[in-house]
Amino acid sequence: MPVKGVGTYDPQNVFAKILRGEIPCRKQFEDDWALAFHDIAPQAPIHVLVIPKGAYISWADFSAKASEAEIAGFVRAVGQVARDLGLEAPGYRLLANVGEDSGQEVPHLHVHLFGGRVMGPMLVQR
Ligand code: 5GP
Repeated sequence: MPVKGVGTYDPQNVFAKILRGEIPCRKQFEDDWALAFHDIAPQAPIHVLVIPKGAYISWADFSAKASEAEIAGFVRAVGQVARDLGLEAPGYRLLANVGEDSGQEVPHLHVHLFGGRVMGPMLVQR
């Protein structure tokens, strides 16, 4: 069920549980600001989720409330993950679902990083 990008943060969401170590993940990267792990249902040969460690639902929530250090840390983590996975040269796609229309399912801000094949059209045409 898609979530709204605003509201009260739900500490029982699956990514909050991963951050607390209550659910395992295949970790790709971690520092003080961000955690990156492989998606449980990959949609490309490489499909990694990068999440800030703070409790933020959406891009609006994060950009309004996060500190400069958290924002810089998160953005740097995305770049670091792409470099570590060897995706700079071939390229990759970043995608963030935010709110109901996007189909966001997990109400903790995350960026999908897809790589390992030619991605094709940016959006599925309807
Ligand atoms: P959204 O639709 O919210 O942008 O993306 C949520 C993503 O989280 C989906 O691609 C889904 O496969 C992934 N996901 C959901 N639950 C888990 C989990 O327990 N572990 C991992 N690694 N990924 C998950």
